[in-house]
Amino acid sequence: MSLPRYIDLHSHTTESDGSYTPEELIDLAVRTDLQALAITDHDTFSGYEMALPFARKAGLDLVRGIELNSRLNLTNSDDSRAAHLLGLFPSREPSEEFINWIEDQRSDRRERNRKLAETLQERGVKVTLEEAEARGRNLTSRTHFAQILIEKGYVNSFDEAFREYLGEDAPSYVARQSLTSEEVIRRIRSGGGVSVVAHPVRLSLSRDAERQELVKLKEAGLAALEIYHSDQDPQLQAYYHQLAQELDLLPTGGSDFHGRLKPDIDLGTGLRGNVRVPFEFLQRLREFAP
Ligand code: AMP
Ligand code: MN
Ligand code: MN
Ligand code: MN
Repeated sequence: MSLPRYIDLHSHTTESDGSYTPEELIDLAVRTDLQALAITDHDTFSGYEMALPFARKAGLDLVRGIELNSRLNLTNSDDSRAAHLLGLFPSREPSEEFINWIEDQRSDRRERNRKLAETLQERGVKVTLEEAEARGRNLTSRTHFAQILIEKGYVNSFDEAFREYLGEDAPSYVARQSLTSEEVIRRIRSGGGVSVVAHPVRLSLSRDAERQELVKLKEAGLAALEIYHSDQDPQLQAYYHQLAQELDLLPTGGSDFHGRLKPDIDLGTGLRGNVRVPFEFLQRLREFAP
């Protein structure tokens, strides 16, 4: 009997805020003996596209994906949450309309970055947009700002950079003009993809509120829930698996590998082995995908 093999449906390359190039990530996936990998860079397909020839050569099943920001307006309050959604394209190519729409999302991100550099400068931090863009060449993320803050000695760690300067609770935080989660789900679906609520634990909602929001998103066309993720412990994973079944959402999972940026998280296996995604999850997504 051969050993079971696993897949990873959430990962990043240097084309967004990961530290592995697309080629290096494929090489790692092969050495990790993954049966399939989805590259889900923030707001771009270019890491996937660059990786594709290497995956083909190595015989690795590579899935096109993307991670998109959205704003989840809560039903029972005026409050909202930043919700990350994955768009997976396991069996067909995204529509041209979808690809053009992604371009708009990227200019919105650039505008955020320009304002972020400005607010940081107002706080006396010497960081320019050009410096950040030199690191995030294809796509500039707050993590590139964080690297500069560390190198220039303003902070000692990524956590501190987000706590003091870049995160939602920091005084210099700049929010993006995110679209609602419903709108992003609709876009992914009409673009030919399968929409996934990524790392639901980070919504920081009570179980009741979380369920209510997921029911609402399911009605808007949501297809799947990321039950396995490095931030979700086994108990929570079991809970989300059950919840996905009850709400008729497909289960997905992935490590959210970023390489050096999040050094405790391993491709395929997550945080100290807490992620194990069976190939069957991908088969079900493929059967579901329109
Ligand atoms: P952006 O997409 O530019 O808004 O940046 C968000 C990215 O920052 C996320 O995808 C994470 O990779 C990263 N991030 C958020 N919070 C933290 C944190 N506390 N420590 C390290 N990285 C973080
Ligand atoms: Mn990231
Ligand atoms: Mn995310
Ligand atoms: Mn991610």
